[in-house]
Amino acid sequence: MTDNNNTIKTEDFWNPEHIVEKFWNGLAEGKVLGRKCKECGAIEFPPHLACNECGYHETEWIELSGKGTLKSFVFTGILNARLELEDKGVKYVCGEVQLDEGPSINAIILGITKKKGREIEPKLPLRVKPVFFDMGRYTTLFFELDEDSYF
Ligand SMILES: [Zn+2]
Repeated sequence: MTDNNNTIKTEDFWNPEHIVEKFWNGLAEGKVLGRKCKECGAIEFPPHLACNECGYHETEWIELSGKGTLKSFVFTGILNARLELEDKGVKYVCGEVQLDEGPSINAIILGITKKKGREIEPKLPLRVKPVFFDMGRYTTLFFELDEDSYF
C-alpha cells in the first residue's frame, strides 16, 4: 500500500454530494451537525436535506453529541486504497459507528494499532467519542475510543 495514486482524499470518504458547507463549518467549530426530520424525527447523518426514513422533504439542523458505539472495524490494509492520513503516520482503522442519536456511519477510528485492535476486537461494541481533526485545509470528523467509559 505505498502507491500514492490510490490515495483517497478524506473529503471523498463520505459521499460528497451529501455534505454541505454548514456541516464542514460546524466541524471546524467542534460541532457535529446532523439534520432532524420535522415529520418523523429521524436523524440524518451525514446531513441530507430530505428524510431517508419517511421521505419527508423538511429536516432541520441539530447538534449531535458525536458520541457513539464502535460495532465493528477493519484494518485498512484490506482496502485497495488508503487515506492521505496514512502519510501523516496516524494509526487508524475503518469501522462502523452507531451514533447515540441513531444513525450508523462508516468512520475512521484513530489510535488503533494492530496490537490494540486485536485486544479490543473481542470487547466490541465499545464506546467512541469524536475527534475534530485538523487536516490543514479543513477539519474532519474522526473518532477515538472513549477510554473513560470502560471503567
Ligand atoms: Zn422522516
